[in-house]
Amino acid sequence: DAIANQIAAGEVVQRPASVVKELLENSIDAGALNLKLIVKESGKTLIQVIDDGSGMSPTDARMSFERHATSKIKESIDLFNIRTMGFRGEALASIAAVAQVEMKTRREEDEVGTLIRIEGSEVVEQDFIQAAKGTSIAVKNLFFNVPARRKFLKSNPVEMKHIIEEFQRVALAHPDVSFILYHNDIEVMNLPAARLSKRITDALDKSYRDQLAKCEIETDVVKITGYVGKPQSAKKTKGDQYFFVNKRFIKSNYLHHAVVNAFESAIPEGTHPFYTLFLEIHPENIDINIHPTKTEIKFDNEQLIYAVLRSAVKQSIGVYNL
Ligand code: ADP
Ligand code: MG
Repeated sequence: DAIANQIAAGEVVQRPASVVKELLENSIDAGALNLKLIVKESGKTLIQVIDDGSGMSPTDARMSFERHATSKIKESIDLFNIRTMGFRGEALASIAAVAQVEMKTRREEDEVGTLIRIEGSEVVEQDFIQAAKGTSIAVKNLFFNVPARRKFLKSNPVEMKHIIEEFQRVALAHPDVSFILYHNDIEVMNLPAARLSKRITDALDKSYRDQLAKCEIETDVVKITGYVGKPQSAKKTKGDQYFFVNKRFIKSNYLHHAVVNAFESAIPEGTHPFYTLFLEIHPENIDINIHPTKTEIKFDNEQLIYAVLRSAVKQSIGVYNL
């Protein structure tokens, strides 16, 4: 019901950037190859994601706003699997509880598409429409019905910073997918499908181009791939440290330490490395806090992973002479 949805929304939807994350991840799960994110007023009035993924049947489109209506995995063991990002079927229901949502969707095999408009969990319109293959979800006037939450939002620059952060995380994790971001009708980022090294420079900083050392190592417990960057001014590389475990962005001071430690004394004063590193670990050997907005993680073989990561980084620093 509407109240339960609003309560759940409090957990999933904290700010415009949370909506961005959920919509982008759904599009990725739907197999989209081209993603467009359109925001207005830092997402406060509009957050729209247009994808060319699988689309939904009219029934599935309607169902997608029901709580716990996930078409994805349900086993807890699968919570951190590599196939899909979503796992609780709560995002769309939560978003629809606190915004005005308009979805247009069509599957390849359907002649006509579906339009659904929902305001604060109430379906106000469902219709057949002409639509491109894929899905467009527009989230308007976030927290229009929860003034306390709306007031709690930060300034436009701060909210936009959070949106760009989520956008960059998803874009880095999926270099084979093209991403475009518009803010107030201005193109802010345009990331064509590319190899990871190009995606890193496109998404983070062009000047990183010749500063990257490839990392690659595989052991029984963990496979590590990605790039480590030559240390430069701490101000410049601030925030450009990315770990993905099974394609999910995570934060780990412990693993960060392993990277820094690998440089030993090769980090000049005031400089800081940057990196985009992917760890693949069997889901059984990971313990995540299943809260959808959390980025912390626990590893069964923490010390081993630390050692493998450190040695992988150390090796590539040597090879590429960073
Ligand atoms: P979850 O992602 O955890 O399954 P969501 O609430 O995010 O839950 O989405 C509910 C369901 O709606 C998904 O399981 C999926 O079937 C469908 N869905 C959502 N977004 C899209 C999309 N962009 N393309 C196709 N299907 C989608
Ligand atoms: Mg989802």
